[in-house]
Amino acid sequence: MLLITGSLHLRVSHFPACKPIMDAAAMSSATIPATAPVDSPESRRYNRIRRWLGIADFVVGLALLVILLVTGWNGTLRDFALRAAFQHYTLAVAVYVLILLALAKLFGVGLDYYSFRLEHRFHLSNQRLRAWFVDEAKEFLVGLIFVVIIVEVLYFMLREFPQHWWLLTWAVFLGLFVLLAQLAPVILFPIFYKFEPLQDEDLKQRLVRLGERAGTRVRGVYKWNLSEKSKKANAALTGLGSTRRIILADTLLENYSPDEIEAVLAHELGHHVHKHILKGIAVQAGTTLLGFWAANWALHYAVDRLHMFDELSDFANLPLLVLVVTVLSFLALPALNAFSRFNERQADRYAFKSIASVDPFISSMNKLAEQNLAERKPSRFVEWYFHSHPAISRRLEAAHVWAKAEG
Ligand SMILES: [Zn+2]
Repeated sequence: MLLITGSLHLRVSHFPACKPIMDAAAMSSATIPATAPVDSPESRRYNRIRRWLGIADFVVGLALLVILLVTGWNGTLRDFALRAAFQHYTLAVAVYVLILLALAKLFGVGLDYYSFRLEHRFHLSNQRLRAWFVDEAKEFLVGLIFVVIIVEVLYFMLREFPQHWWLLTWAVFLGLFVLLAQLAPVILFPIFYKFEPLQDEDLKQRLVRLGERAGTRVRGVYKWNLSEKSKKANAALTGLGSTRRIILADTLLENYSPDEIEAVLAHELGHHVHKHILKGIAVQAGTTLLGFWAANWALHYAVDRLHMFDELSDFANLPLLVLVVTVLSFLALPALNAFSRFNERQADRYAFKSIASVDPFISSMNKLAEQNLAERKPSRFVEWYFHSHPAISRRLEAAHVWAKAEG
């Protein structure tokens, strides 16, 4: 539901029903083993700027929503949308969404461009300006389609079932979310990246053996052509049911030893075995329900008490709904990240257990940190609030502790 504010993050590593090996940009503790390399000033600077960019993106989105509500432009734009749609309600909702998304893009494009430049400044990107621009356009269009569908459902429910709209919309959202998690690897991700089945027989055999030991089967392993855009490496478990697959970046396949890749595969298999994608959807369902409840309360307050809108289904109230949900999402972030870090530790432990030695896990983590300019040891607050993965130094420490316990 953060979709409307700021830029749309539809990149693979940002997709909620997707478990990558590390945070998209940042990674990273308490007691670092003496051998662990220390974060370079460069990596500190890069990650600090990335964080501020994320915060700025959030603030800009919030500012836009507040400006719309305070100035009353949300109502002016609604009237405009109705006129442009010849007073056709459903069509006007779509026009309204288009205007809001265009405004959000206009407000956020400067920061997006700065992010693009930043990756180049730190030698982490292979993407040309033109390709970036095409990606931005694709992101906008894909986002527009999703948001129009979601908002149309929302206002249909508000109009037809004003009493129970929030519960009904939540149920539809849940269905859409499961569908999206299933379709994303075959429909959504290929819009932005090329994927092909992994050809390496040795690696495939290793995965089959890992799966057999776990008493499970992953249907596919795919090479993810990340190198055309980025110098970073990553891997992830994505999809649901028949689309469940592990994706490995070509930047990882080319530079890591078979043992290191096996360690990464074992981590991803850990997510599969522990059903993390399904659990993630369940948690998302709970938080979304809470969000809808709060949105319903805020909407009634604005209509019944403040008389800001004549009725619930006046779509000029969309910025208010997005504002409520955005603020709640921001407040829920530490809890959701703590849940994610718990899952990541579980997947790491699964990997330790399934591979012959933790050494390749340790070396792959070090390589990933270096290649992605990740922070091995962010501050406690930064890790607690922003990181979906435990700090690399903590993951390394856990591996060392495991190795020691195993003798
Ligand atoms: Zn993971």
